Amino acid sequence: MKRNILLNPGPATTTDTVKQALMVPDICPREEEFGELTQSVLKKIVNVVNGQATHSTVIFTGSGTAAVEAALCSVVAEDGKILILDNGAYGKRAETIIKAYGISHRTFRIEWGDFPDINQIEIVLKEDPQLTHFFIVHHETTTGMLNPLPELLELCEKYELDSIVDAMSSYAGLPIDLQNQPVDYLISSSNKCIQGMAGVSFVIANKEKLVATSKIPPRNLYLNLWGNHSYIEQTGQFQFTPPVQIVYALNQALDEFFEETQTGRTARYVKSYETLLEGIEQAGLEMLLPKSQHSKLLTAIVEPKSPKYDFMEMHDYFYENDITIYPGKGAKKDTFRIANIGSIDYRDMQEFNKFMLQYFQEKNII
Ligand SMILES: *Cc1c(COP(=O)(O)O)cnc(C)c1O
Repeated sequence: MKRNILLNPGPATTTDTVKQALMVPDICPREEEFGELTQSVLKKIVNVVNGQATHSTVIFTGSGTAAVEAALCSVVAEDGKILILDNGAYGKRAETIIKAYGISHRTFRIEWGDFPDINQIEIVLKEDPQLTHFFIVHHETTTGMLNPLPELLELCEKYELDSIVDAMSSYAGLPIDLQNQPVDYLISSSNKCIQGMAGVSFVIANKEKLVATSKIPPRNLYLNLWGNHSYIEQTGQFQFTPPVQIVYALNQALDEFFEETQTGRTARYVKSYETLLEGIEQAGLEMLLPKSQHSKLLTAIVEPKSPKYDFMEMHDYFYENDITIYPGKGAKKDTFRIANIGSIDYRDMQEFNKFMLQYFQEKNII
């Protein structure tokens, strides 16, 4: 099969074996055989972040936002209040969800590309004792920033807040150990660093916290965390029709993750990132963030000032060469973005670097 190099932040490039795992005999998802596959996938998902002793996976059909919405609408009690860190599009999206449900909230908003100041956040927590939850994006894919999760979790502990962490684009890419980083609700999806196909997302929930949410009147049916969890606990099956083939592909992707190991995957991604930095330097381009804030999973590159530069034209140039690049999204400077997740390695990034330099030189942009 033709191989495309996806440098957009997911759905990421998959292996041929993950693609092949989609081709399975037709099966009714109410059969025991599929129930066993589902149970096994749920276990593997929580194992990726060493949460098997303390956490359960609740899985949803839908892209990553489905699981974010599920967590947000299911865990804040009627008299609760949530703090949202907004330093990118995904923090902002959480706020949009919370507003749609009319849940009491407060937003800590800074420019997209600014690093959150822990002391400033602590001031908010001190003056607002009604807060019960904190929503944090781990890797803010808008800018490529790795938010300071350990420090933010310390604040949660100190002020007794339950943490909801959108780890969509970091789960399986960067090591997360729930025994050392006690996130209450960790969210991700099938198609980013775990390298499966798009179609399911999940909340890895602390078991005790999850049970406590059973007392909160459901705000909807389809995305209720406790409803989905209790159904699957009782029956071993998805509550609603699952995307059968996507679950098979995810199972294969999880097996490939454990084969590569977290250390191996992170090292492969970091090598691609470092190769990308060489290309950025060669082309004389500027990055949005200082290196110390980089996730090493996605890099936001400031767009060249030249009037000859045109993102869509550059995009098409790459696309013709089987490479997909990604535009920016509302950061404090205009950027384009290059992710280095998925089944690619530093040699693919060398290809990208070669074409980037060629393009800029041909167009006299640099
Ligand atoms: C990709 C992503 C999402 C979810 O986006 P979907 O398009 O719904 O899959 C949420 N948060 C972050 C940080 C992401 O990178």
